Amino acid sequence: MPDLFIDGSWRSAADGGTRGVINPFDATVFRHVDEATAADAEAAVLAARWAFDQGTWPATPVAERAAVLDRVADLLQRDKEEIAHVETLDTGKTLVESRIDVDDVTAVFRYYAQQALVPVDRTVDVGQANVRSRVVHHPVGVCSLIAPWNYPLLQIAWKVAPALAAGNTMVLKPSEVTPLSTVHLVKLLEEVGLPHGVVNLVLGPGSAVGATLTEHPAVDLVSFTGGLSTGRAIIRSTAETVKRACVELGGKNPNIVFADVDLDVAADVVATGVFLHAGQVCSAGTRLIVEESVADELVAAVVEKARRVRLGNGLDPASESGPLVSEQHRDKVEGWVARGLAEGAELLTGGRRPEGADLQRGYFYEPTVFDHCDRTMDIVQAETFGPILTVERFRTEEEAVLLGNDTSYGLAGGVQTRDVERGERVANALRHGTVWINDFGPYVPQAEWGGQRMSGNGRELGPAGLHEYLETKHIWQNTTPAAPGWFKG
Ligand code: NAD
Repeated sequence: MPDLFIDGSWRSAADGGTRGVINPFDATVFRHVDEATAADAEAAVLAARWAFDQGTWPATPVAERAAVLDRVADLLQRDKEEIAHVETLDTGKTLVESRIDVDDVTAVFRYYAQQALVPVDRTVDVGQANVRSRVVHHPVGVCSLIAPWNYPLLQIAWKVAPALAAGNTMVLKPSEVTPLSTVHLVKLLEEVGLPHGVVNLVLGPGSAVGATLTEHPAVDLVSFTGGLSTGRAIIRSTAETVKRACVELGGKNPNIVFADVDLDVAADVVATGVFLHAGQVCSAGTRLIVEESVADELVAAVVEKARRVRLGNGLDPASESGPLVSEQHRDKVEGWVARGLAEGAELLTGGRRPEGADLQRGYFYEPTVFDHCDRTMDIVQAETFGPILTVERFRTEEEAVLLGNDTSYGLAGGVQTRDVERGERVANALRHGTVWINDFGPYVPQAEWGGQRMSGNGRELGPAGLHEYLETKHIWQNTTPAAPGWFKG
């Protein structure tokens, strides 16, 4: 069956092109998918435009749209094992993580089914009895939704659920590296009986279809999650037609640990925060900023944990972490480790490919800890997107906050302390979109997610995540029309 979904039917690419999808555990091609051309992308955009302008979905009562979202949530749970399996083959992450992703995505669809029903229109008292003034909301129109490879299903769902709830039509583009869970999601969206053209799917790299999805005048909004340089390119390419462009980009996320904590707990929070999914998490806590008096002890505990992480096949229940997503990505991570060494950071563990015979074919990399780092190093400032932890030490709370904010990114950060007031103070002072106190990583569909500064300009999840897909309009109605009489002639 073909993999592109355009105007309600599954199609092959216009030029017959395909791409092999690689399992990063053993570097084998386990599926081929159709790879779209610019012409396919244009057909998808025009189908979405037609579906929006024709008006069935935007005009569908919101309660009916909400019911569709709930039905999608049911189907996600029905197919949970199948989707989780394919997500693990595609990304290398463990099945446990893939199952959690499917549950989280289900929760996002359920949340927006509820949130869509919350009234957002309002009347405005303009102080004139003859004027009825209202602020109302409409769907934005045609949305290009572009997602990365680290959380393929999750990231596309954070866009699809609110975009559908708000009555938009859309073209989805998952990462070329990890397309399969999105193909499955689109099958579910087809199954719930959306009108033709409301949801369209193209596969392939940004170079083939990106320009069409971001520049085309028939597209009203681009929502993108991915890397900083792609985000910049997307903002530039949407500028000509002044589209709404929401970009969710990378992070360099500090995890600040004060000396008053239980060090065993803190070490576990640090190790989980950075080594989960081999560090390929936008909000990974890659930058440990620890109070000097406990630094040696805490770092030793984290190193112990790093050495014990069981790498392996994501399908094997004994595995705690999988490989990096691709050979190209492992090359990048190795480049960052070489840079850290050249900059004089002290390698405490990792910094190499693992030795186990079963780990030789895939793109595995050992959890890595660099000590005695400082804020001027690239390894401390750049998003390395692998299992690499850097360690810096501080003496005062002020210094900890300074270091935590010493990044051009602003996605997420954490502070661990037993002092409740200090936790609050530091959380308020950190310029990051999410801050965890005595935790690192949790999120819920009800609370907004997004970055400050170079981590992006939009918000996903929460009420703001729905608002991204709504236009706001003021309607002023004069109920007793009269000549303004401004000009006297
Ligand atoms: P990427 O920027 O390379 O690619 C992301 C998507 O954009 C892919 O689908 C890709 O094909 C597409 N793309 C590439 N060039 C394009 C172009 N010119 N026009 C249109 N689309 C184009 O990112 P990646 O390597 O897939 O993902 C990793 C990055 O994503 C990391 O930086 C990570 O921090 C970030 N990320 C951020 C969040 C967040 O919530 N802020 C979440 C997950 C991942």
